[in-house]
Amino acid sequence: MVDNNNTLTNASGIPIANNEVSKSAGKYGPLLLEDYDLLEKMAHFNRERIPERVVHALGAGAYGTFTVTDDITHLTKAKLFSEVGKETEVFARFSTVAKSKGGSDIYRDLRGFSLKHYTEDGNWDMVGNGTPIFFVRDPMKFMDFIRSQKEHPEQHWRQDEMWWDFWSQVPESLHQVMWLMGDRGAPMGWRHMNGYGSHTFSLINEQNERIWVKFHYLSDQGIKNFTEEQWMHMQGIEPRWATKDLFNAIDEGNFPAWTMYIQTMTDEQAQTFQWNPFDLTKVWPHGDFPLQRVGKLTLNRNPENYFAEVEQAAFSPGNVVPGISWSPDRMLQARIMSYADTHRYRLGVNYESIPVNSPHATQANSPYRDGFMRVDGNYGSRQNYHPTRYEYPKADQRAATPPYEVSGMADRIELDEADYSDQAKMFYQMLDNGEKDRLVHNIGGSLGKCPNDIKERQLALFREVDENFAHRVSTAMSEVKPPQPDPKPAAV
Ligand code: NDP
Repeated sequence: MVDNNNTLTNASGIPIANNEVSKSAGKYGPLLLEDYDLLEKMAHFNRERIPERVVHALGAGAYGTFTVTDDITHLTKAKLFSEVGKETEVFARFSTVAKSKGGSDIYRDLRGFSLKHYTEDGNWDMVGNGTPIFFVRDPMKFMDFIRSQKEHPEQHWRQDEMWWDFWSQVPESLHQVMWLMGDRGAPMGWRHMNGYGSHTFSLINEQNERIWVKFHYLSDQGIKNFTEEQWMHMQGIEPRWATKDLFNAIDEGNFPAWTMYIQTMTDEQAQTFQWNPFDLTKVWPHGDFPLQRVGKLTLNRNPENYFAEVEQAAFSPGNVVPGISWSPDRMLQARIMSYADTHRYRLGVNYESIPVNSPHATQANSPYRDGFMRVDGNYGSRQNYHPTRYEYPKADQRAATPPYEVSGMADRIELDEADYSDQAKMFYQMLDNGEKDRLVHNIGGSLGKCPNDIKERQLALFREVDENFAHRVSTAMSEVKPPQPDPKPAAV
């Protein structure tokens, strides 16, 4: 092959004679249809944008390593945890949730915290958030929740009224709303926040025994947050504050790290747990289910190309490896399908053969063939059906999961409607006085913009948390004036 790295070519490798001047009929004449280089350049540009993610559109990513520090082989047979000291390559993507790709990455919102572990058993995607809980616990409500966070259908800007309208009518959101409106709802970049798997998952050991598990990644940098006024100010000065903060830290060799912990719960404990252990609006209290240290995640390499490696990164909770599995959490069950589905729409059916998404420590030997943008060898001459008399990869029982019992009538059954405020109370009681003040202040500035019926509904929910808290919010709604743009132009 010739080394033509210094020659500008088109996508077919044909040299381009001039990349600056189009071909015209004389100096003042029209352009010629035969200017293939111009036509190709325009046509490709016209197709540069792909659909953005419907949630978590705005994010940044980096490569790194997960290192096991503590033995959990009695709990899981997953190869990435097989021995202390074992290192696994990781790609991490952090994101905001509601804003579109062009928005600012520092504002009050949840944050995405996703890790792709390139293990010898294939890729394990830990597709989590910077919060251990969520607003809803039934996927039927998810799409409506997200729309309440996005632009108004007519006016096309985000409106406090929309989210409080939704939250005040969905009481199970209360715990997450209190968390979001508190200090941790506006993290100072992605390095200074924790990550959580949020859902309950399961670990399966060599004896094929299952234990329920929650994943926690606590920031070694410590938690740091913006105040309401700080992020509002900063997003005008540097709307990509978090993206820059992550990139520059890694570029300077100041590698961010998180310590990974798990909480575990046996089936017997699950039977008697005070709450539904698969309810995404609840935590497992640390006092009852202590954190057990597992390893260290360190990010040490920036991607070379944002589009190729970050925009095209595709994580799915469906990607669990032998030794890790799901739980009956309703939101998780829906995400197993939904994430891969959105990637098929966004990137095409062969999205997992894009280098950042493909396995790095093993190879894919899937039964899938053909489809748009099949740019690898498509398994060459290997037989494309099974069973067959020809050579074909074998199924592996290591990936089989132990059965678990289910019972009951098939119906649309609500999770317990009455248990939405007890953990919100726990959350409120944990806050110190300064945190309580800022929570009241943040809610006051936002809920204060809403019509009275929304305010009253939400205050009734806050009263269930704490009478005094609701009273303080009610006062703050009339006192806190959100910053207004200066109506005077700079020059007249
Ligand atoms: P604990 O006192 O045992 O644990 C509280 C945990 O809450 C801390 O370890 C810390 O988690 C986190 N936390 C501390 N300050 C804040 C804050 N200002 N905003 C958000 N989270 C904070 O109590 P419980 O385990 O009984 O939980 C009490 C409440 O804490 C829950 O209702 C939940 O809202 C919140 N919480 C609980 C977590 C859990 O897994 N049990 C995790 C995160 C929050 P971390 O070390 O992960 O930062």
